[in-house]
Amino acid sequence: MDRAEYQKYLASREWALLKEKVRQRSENICERCKAGPHDVTHHLTYERIGREEPEDLIGVCEDCHKFLSGKSDHDPSEYRKAVISEGIARIRKAKALVDSARDLMSECFPDGDYEHTYYDLSESFFHLLSNLSRHLGEGKE
Ligand SMILES: [Zn+2]
Repeated sequence: MDRAEYQKYLASREWALLKEKVRQRSENICERCKAGPHDVTHHLTYERIGREEPEDLIGVCEDCHKFLSGKSDHDPSEYRKAVISEGIARIRKAKALVDSARDLMSECFPDGDYEHTYYDLSESFFHLLSNLSRHLGEGKE
């Protein structure tokens, strides 16, 4: 497919339907960084151009598209990972503080009635940390 044919293909009903399929899969969220919106439907491969399988395509945000096309060095996916890692580190610090507060409290007030509240808080930390850790993993949940 030459450039002119490709441009024609990008204006075709077939391409519009395929793009719509990818948009339904992405639920309008960038399938790469999972932070930005699905702005562009990007070809992962041009092997089956004109008869693409949905897995040949990925819905990405403008920033991811620029990065994938080599037009920018900024990788939103890496940035997002760095932010999540920092978030996890801060939540771990907060949990350690809460743990030490509980230790202090139970030492001074062994009959304190805050244990169940602490338990709920501890559960929340656990869910938050496992949720964030999952977002660090590759692929879709
Ligand atoms: Zn993105």
